Parts: sequence; C-alpha cells; structure tokens
Amino acid sequence: MGTNQRRNSHLKDDQIKQLEDLLMAQKEDLLNKISDQTQYALDPNEQKEQVDAANNNREKEQEARLLSRQGFLVKKISKTLLDIKTGEYGLCKECDADIPFERLMARPVADMCITCKEDSEMSEKSKLYKKVSKSLGKTAQEYGRL
Ligand SMILES: [Zn+2]
Repeated sequence: MGTNQRRNSHLKDDQIKQLEDLLMAQKEDLLNKISDQTQYALDPNEQKEQVDAANNNREKEQEARLLSRQGFLVKKISKTLLDIKTGEYGLCKECDADIPFERLMARPVADMCITCKEDSEMSEKSKLYKKVSKSLGKTAQEYGRL
C-alpha cells in the first residue's frame, strides 16, 4: 500500500492537468474582459452624446455588478488553482466526497458535490433575497467573503 496517495486520487494526473489548463484559460479570459470593461468605463467621450444621465447610471451599475461577479470568479479560480497544488482539488468541501471528473470538466471551479451544491443553493437563494433588500453595498461585501 502506497502511503503517498493523494486525497483526490479519483483524478488522474493528466485529468488534473487538463482541468488546470481549462482554469487558467478561463482566468485569462476573465481578466481580459475585466480590463476591456474598465477601459470602456473610463472613456468619457465614448457615449456621452446619445446617452442621458439616467441611462448612464444604470449602465454603470450593470457594469459594476458584472465586474464584481467576474472578479469573484477570478478569485474563485485562483483558489481552485491553489487547491490543485495542495491536492485538495476535486473533493467536496462539505462532505469530502469525490467530485467526478465529468462534473469538473463542465464546471472546473466546482468545490461541492451535486447533493451539497443543491442544498447550499437553496439556502443561498433565501439568504440572497434578504441581503439584496437590505443594501447593495452590503451584498458586495458578502460576495467578497465567499
Ligand atoms: Zn458533498
């Protein structure tokens, strides 16, 4: 019996490599998008003429929401890449079950098995309602902690 077996030994080395490549490509893609949007948002001449102030604000709001969601994903991907290094990747953080390779390929940042994910989404939805109705600023803070 080998004593140096990884905890996530249901994943083969080449499968992990495949997922790692996927994650790095996704991260780069997100970072590119974020820098595009930031440039766009910083350009005051672009749409000044045809957009009134109200529309402008709404667009900024949507942009900010999009950026914070993408920033959140980037953080999540970085954390996932770290998990790959430490051999924690592919295990459910709630119940320690193996997360199947197929599920990881479909969603490489998955850190919960389907059962735990469904449970947490249900409670997350009801929590989110309360947060959003309280204040948007607070919601952003909560996202940062996830
Ligand atoms: Zn689980």
